[in-house]
Amino acid sequence: MPPMSIMTLKIEFLKGVGTAKADLLAKELNIRSVEDLLNHFPFRYIDKTKFQKISELTGDEDYVQIKGQVVQLQTLGAGRSKRLVAQFTDSSGQIELIWFQGIKWIEDSLQLRTEYIVFGRLTEFNRKFSIAHPEMELMVGHPAVSFLAPVYPSTDKLNKKGLDTKSQRRIFRQLTEKLLPADLPEILPLYIVEKLKLLSRFQAYQFIHFPPDSAHLHAAQKRLKFEELLCMQLKILQYKNRKQSLIKGYIFEKVGDLFNGFYSKYLPFELTNAQKKVIREIRKDMGSGKQMNRLLQGDVGSGKTIVALLSMLIALDNGFQACLMAPTEILAQQHFQSIEEFIKPLNIGIGYLSGSVKGKTRNQVLTALKDGSIKIIIGTHALLEDWVEFQKIGLAIIDEQHRFGVKQRAALWSKSTVPPHILVMTATPIPRTLAMTLYGDLDVSVIDELPPGRKEIKTLHFNENKRLRLLGFIREEINKGRQIYIVYPLIEESEKLDLLDLENGYQALLREFPMPEYHISVVHGKMKPEDKEYEMSRFIKKQTQIMVATTVIEVGVNVPNASVMIIEHAERFGLSQLHQLRGRVGRGADQSYCILMTSFKLSKDSRERIKTMCETNNGFVIAEADLRLRGPGDIEGTRQSGLFGLNIADLAKDAAILTTAREIALRILDSDPEMNEPQHTAIKRHIDHRYRNLQDWSSIS
Ligand code: ADP
Ligand code: MG
Repeated sequence: MPPMSIMTLKIEFLKGVGTAKADLLAKELNIRSVEDLLNHFPFRYIDKTKFQKISELTGDEDYVQIKGQVVQLQTLGAGRSKRLVAQFTDSSGQIELIWFQGIKWIEDSLQLRTEYIVFGRLTEFNRKFSIAHPEMELMVGHPAVSFLAPVYPSTDKLNKKGLDTKSQRRIFRQLTEKLLPADLPEILPLYIVEKLKLLSRFQAYQFIHFPPDSAHLHAAQKRLKFEELLCMQLKILQYKNRKQSLIKGYIFEKVGDLFNGFYSKYLPFELTNAQKKVIREIRKDMGSGKQMNRLLQGDVGSGKTIVALLSMLIALDNGFQACLMAPTEILAQQHFQSIEEFIKPLNIGIGYLSGSVKGKTRNQVLTALKDGSIKIIIGTHALLEDWVEFQKIGLAIIDEQHRFGVKQRAALWSKSTVPPHILVMTATPIPRTLAMTLYGDLDVSVIDELPPGRKEIKTLHFNENKRLRLLGFIREEINKGRQIYIVYPLIEESEKLDLLDLENGYQALLREFPMPEYHISVVHGKMKPEDKEYEMSRFIKKQTQIMVATTVIEVGVNVPNASVMIIEHAERFGLSQLHQLRGRVGRGADQSYCILMTSFKLSKDSRERIKTMCETNNGFVIAEADLRLRGPGDIEGTRQSGLFGLNIADLAKDAAILTTAREIALRILDSDPEMNEPQHTAIKRHIDHRYRNLQDWSSIS
């Protein structure tokens, strides 16, 4: 009989574990098997050759690692402000270590005048440095040679029950020592391991837990990240391929009179190269016999509308109807007006439908849609209602994707036996790594170029002490005939205060800019929809010069004459939101401005956001910065990425590895779609096992 593999051992039988700790590991960290344990990667490594000196700390460090002793320990305060304070010194200086919780346990276990390594986030208060809830580890027992000691994620409970990072380390030590290469056989095809010069799977697991040096650590990380991302991409792409081969699409093989006629005679400007490229991609999709599922990303003002129109004309040329949906009435109206204007000379039946189209008009539209006399219909969600019937819908375009859910997209399908081609347009650029994950089963087109002659929006950062200058500037711009947006934050948690703030700002403006010379619109989420629409329409018609608003104006509104966007409390907005708001100006020929008003004191992240805004107008650069600052989990609509339970790869940092993984996944599936070749069976089995619990799969597309 072959010796039993350690992989099948119950973890309670590992030395240093036992039943009680095994239970705790399962409860606290969801670790139930040796495999789970091996995948419980260190989140940090202590390099015992590198310490900062207390005297050299400046306060600009985020995290610090220092070496020294606790010379005094004191409990201060009482009740909720009770805290344990340790004076910690190295040969150069002294700082405080502070605990607010677990005080008793720390007090009992901490050894005075004994050498510790301390790691934590440095804070400065009253010109004194301190670290709250530091990670601490005794120096003794650490070999003085250079080697990276793993630090494992733990919890208060685990710490108290003797599973602190040090005892976890001991468990891992004996586990990895018993591990044989046969326990962790290679799952990647050998040609890939060789081509990318990857460590073997066995080596990678050894070195991720106990790296002899940083070069080995990086090699182990690279291998494991790659494996994780490759598996994820194979899963996504296989899903996409299967879906596509199951679902037939209409074939639009003709580019006919409408498209050609419009293109050659009535197109009011030369398309940018990016627009041309995207139209080619769309044409190819719609002619392929498969259903198009394409995401079109393009910054505000990059000219997505004309791309939408040209795509619709192809549908019409092939005898089909097309629809364009927007998330709000105002946006839908604007689309209707501009598209109606574009196609006037073509004599095409065009209609508009929203909840506010009622009675006779509504019936006329519905009838014309059904009998096919309306070829292009533009509207809101109302188009998705059950009673809206098309004669032959071939293409559905959805503007501003994040307001439309997957369910709504699916509703379009029920309107036709063969699903229409779908084009989703968004002005919120999604970093490439996220697009490859979240929309991995959509094809992505990008308009990465603005029409020529557009002036860059100038972005400035103002503090309260420049308010007077700001008022003067507003006056100047209004005198030039321009219009101004002033946006206030409004979040649920502080709704009352926020509204009060907006109200105060509005009152102050009324005093500065009195009637009858000036008119000001005000719009916020607490108003009735009719009132909102009315106030917005006054601004659109230039009856008011200033629009004071909460973020309701964020999406899509087009007022080319508005040239100044002032954002109050800009530090409270996220980067992508700031960028969206800024996109409301810069739509006309005039020089436009975005002014970010903030308080004096800003957190490091806020400062970084404001700086990014002042430095660039490029939505993709901003999206990347946003991802970096917030992490992928926080970005709107990206929680699904948790679906894949990334254990080591980081979508914010591992773009290059992800790109390689995607390319290789594409190549594997190209040559072996079901991964049945012998060299692919191991990874196939691994993927099935890894994603055995992946259920809510539809929510990622
Ligand atoms: P968005 O991508 O934000 O929807 P729009 O489609 O509204 O952008 O286009 C913004 C403006 O730029 C519109 O006035 C449109 O007519 C104009 N435009 C679009 N493409 C071009 C182009 N290639 N050259 C010049 N102007 C263009
Ligand atoms: Mg648009």
